[in-house]
Amino acid sequence: MNSRTSKLASRLDKMALVCLLVTRMENIRYLTGFSGSSAFLVVAPSKAVLVTDGRYSEQAAAECPGLDISIYTGDLVGTISDLLPGGTTGFESTLSFDFYSRLSEGLPEHSLLKPVEGAVEELRTFKEPGEIELIRRAVCFAEEGFNQVLPLIKAGISERKLAAELDYRMVLAGADAPAFETIVASGPNSSKPHAGITDRVVQEGDLVVVDFGAEAGGYRSDTTRTIKVPPTSNRENEAYLAVDQAVKRALESIRPGVEASSVDKAARNYLQEKGYGENFTHSLGHGVGLEAHERPNLSPRSVETLEPGTVFTIEPGVYIPGSFGVRIEEMVLLTESGHELLTGGIPHQNDER
Ligand code: ZN
Ligand code: ZN
Repeated sequence: MNSRTSKLASRLDKMALVCLLVTRMENIRYLTGFSGSSAFLVVAPSKAVLVTDGRYSEQAAAECPGLDISIYTGDLVGTISDLLPGGTTGFESTLSFDFYSRLSEGLPEHSLLKPVEGAVEELRTFKEPGEIELIRRAVCFAEEGFNQVLPLIKAGISERKLAAELDYRMVLAGADAPAFETIVASGPNSSKPHAGITDRVVQEGDLVVVDFGAEAGGYRSDTTRTIKVPPTSNRENEAYLAVDQAVKRALESIRPGVEASSVDKAARNYLQEKGYGENFTHSLGHGVGLEAHERPNLSPRSVETLEPGTVFTIEPGVYIPGSFGVRIEEMVLLTESGHELLTGGIPHQNDER
């Protein structure tokens, strides 16, 4: 076992489990280092076994030194079933119903399967120095790609072409891949917080929302910038300034142990004061790591507190339906003494442009 699987194993008792069957690939990667796309992980108090198929035998041995690896041939359910001790085994929500049914049938007497939420995700919330380093690299690749694409964001280029250019340049800069499907939303398309890319061509006077990230060693970055293509209207400029200020208000409210909901409120209350209460329609932010969206969640309903070692976004927005939208998204590392802005190398749009 390694330190992460041991840590998880030491928590099984508290969850009233004899064993946990891990099926989320990000969780398996976190616990074992295995980066393939198909595997199961059985974690019991004194053993952890990675079950995968023959395509991955060489990769699993190289990526997971010191871990027990079982290569199944044919009977996957039987292979896993044989590894489960009698008692209550937890499973994650990504286990398919079909697999669950077949596994249930073969369980020993007095054994059962119980759904478990967030056991590994909770460990993943607190980043180790090596993980933070990979996140910094991801941010750096995204930043380099974006800064190269910035001069291209002007009238005449399509959203699709901008997104392709950005993806390409992030990879050339060193990223393994884009962290998620890049969003480029121009003009009226920017009023949709999660717009899909279209063939719309950027026009003079547009705001262009670009939400992008890079992946490095499995870790991701997530940044948004809104670019003004002059001449933008006063209404657009005012909304931009309000969102920019809302980011600052949120950043100022961050300290170790702060309630996630109060950081959300710091930005939300400011936008409300400025008359945009109805126009900030999503939560303020989310954790980033092996997934682009993970714990913690920064929303008005969050019950979490933000602790040192967490990495999360601050992304207020103002969306005027049918007209335009503005979003600025920063990534922050919470430290013992305060916070560090990870995405400071990607400049905000200044007003002169
Ligand atoms: Zn984003
Ligand atoms: Zn985000």
